[in-house]
Amino acid sequence: MTARLIDGNALSRQIRAEVAERAAALTARGTTPGLAVIVVGDNPASAVYVRNKVKACQDNGLHSVMEAYPATMSEAELLARVEALNVDPTIHGILVQLPLPPHIDAHKVIETISPLKDVDGFHVASAGALMVGQEAFRPCTPYGCMKMLESIGCDPRGKHAVVIGRSNIVGKPMAMLLLAANATVTICHSATPDLAHHTRQADIIVAAVGRRNVLTADMVKPGAVVIDVGMNRNDEGKLCGDVDFAGVAEVAGAITPVPGGVGPMTITMLLVNTIEAAERAAG
Ligand code: NAP
Repeated sequence: MTARLIDGNALSRQIRAEVAERAAALTARGTTPGLAVIVVGDNPASAVYVRNKVKACQDNGLHSVMEAYPATMSEAELLARVEALNVDPTIHGILVQLPLPPHIDAHKVIETISPLKDVDGFHVASAGALMVGQEAFRPCTPYGCMKMLESIGCDPRGKHAVVIGRSNIVGKPMAMLLLAANATVTICHSATPDLAHHTRQADIIVAAVGRRNVLTADMVKPGAVVIDVGMNRNDEGKLCGDVDFAGVAEVAGAITPVPGGVGPMTITMLLVNTIEAAERAAG
């Protein structure tokens, strides 16, 4: 492997230590930062994510409340819970774990979260603020990717960044953050006819598709920085990303691994957003 490894676990430890200091300082001033996590139904992946988020809060001095409801919970009941948390002074961040059962409109639920407590950054007010360059919570995964670029001294200014994927939670906000950092941004998706044509010109590639080997060594310019957001399973059932890591690591200048890359950074940036929300609430 010739590429520099961008270690999400190491960077997370560093940022979480700063979060813990800020949490301790706020607590000493009488405000313990609080995160509420709501999960509806029994999706096994959601249960793991939620457990990891709650544990990360506990480990770093944040107060966390986990509310688990059966899949039969009605949309009205869920909206009422969110509204109650919006006015709960001990809670500074609210996260509703997706996906929600099909009878619940996820957009409606997210729009009910107060933008002041929207630590996932999924509310249209947060998305709109990102679009027009105003202060707001940035979605945790793209925010973490930007921190990873920063950690290796990769300034996107003047660089060509290619984002593969255009979801509202990863691809689109990722492209907006790179644009705000003065990159020239290309967004690719399932209807892009020749993906390799775009990726071969990129100085920075962010893969957020959810399919193994979307990016292989022949599609990467030597020296490019490659961020792998994907979470998939390989034939042995092990966690892997969207990028053919072994091959691309021989061509790229820097690369994130899966696991141990973007995943831990996503949770870390959730803690950062929650601390920021608590600091703002405490004045
Ligand atoms: P998503 O909503 O399914 O979006 C996937 C995107 O990939 C879509 O925009 C889709 O295009 C595009 N796409 C599909 N096939 C493609 C192809 N062959 N070439 C180019 N683009 C293609 O997924 P997501 O929520 O953004 O998540 C993406 C991946 O990141 C998943 O593996 C997810 O598990 C992972 N993830 C990881 C973290 C983390 O913390 N590490 C956080 C969030 C997500 P269309 O829009 O045209 O359909």
